[in-house]
Amino acid sequence: MNSYTNTGKGYLFIVSGPSGVGKTVLCNAIVNRFAPAVVYSISTTSRAPRGGETDGQEYNFCSAETFEGAIKRNEFAEWAFVHGNYYGTPRQFLTDNLEAGRHVILNIDVQGAMKIRDEYPEAVMIFILPPTFEELESRIRKRNMDSEHSLQHRLENARKELGYQSQYHHAIVNDNLEMAKSELIKIFAGYISCEGSTSQA
Ligand code: 5GP
Repeated sequence: MNSYTNTGKGYLFIVSGPSGVGKTVLCNAIVNRFAPAVVYSISTTSRAPRGGETDGQEYNFCSAETFEGAIKRNEFAEWAFVHGNYYGTPRQFLTDNLEAGRHVILNIDVQGAMKIRDEYPEAVMIFILPPTFEELESRIRKRNMDSEHSLQHRLENARKELGYQSQYHHAIVNDNLEMAKSELIKIFAGYISCEGSTSQA
């Protein structure tokens, strides 16, 4: 566990890892377990919604032009260009919740994580790993929502992302989903209970 200065504000948790590793389902498990003490930061993106995604739920979807306007107005705590699309963390949501003493999870890529760490050096950084690279490739292919070109791009990016693992405080291998969920819950419970929050862990 890293030394987090207790300022009375919420903890900021960053969850990163290559595409297809299961970050979103793991983050959802945390929210289900610890809400309302823990809230999930819904990112804004210029990528098109995938089947089953709803605006305001998985992401706030917008055009690249709208996103660029928001960058100019400094509305993102961090933003990055990932797989050919913009992704960003809305600043207001983050600061409002931390100030209110709620803990916030960011599910963001490694570039965004490094930027957030500069601004919030006390952030708790958690990296999710696939059991093997071959397994990751097979999971990404099974998702079957990307073109071959986009898939190759994601795989290349995944290789680069894996090189950032040492920058994180915790690493979890998502081999068995239920085990990975309970490991992540344990990590969150360790930090949140230090603060005497309302967590049920
Ligand atoms: P996907 O398109 O598969 O939903 O997400 C692609 C990647 O973008 C994932 O690694 C995800 O963690 C990352 N991502 C999602 N939201 C943000 C964000 O607000 N900022 C940054 N830097 N990355 C993000």
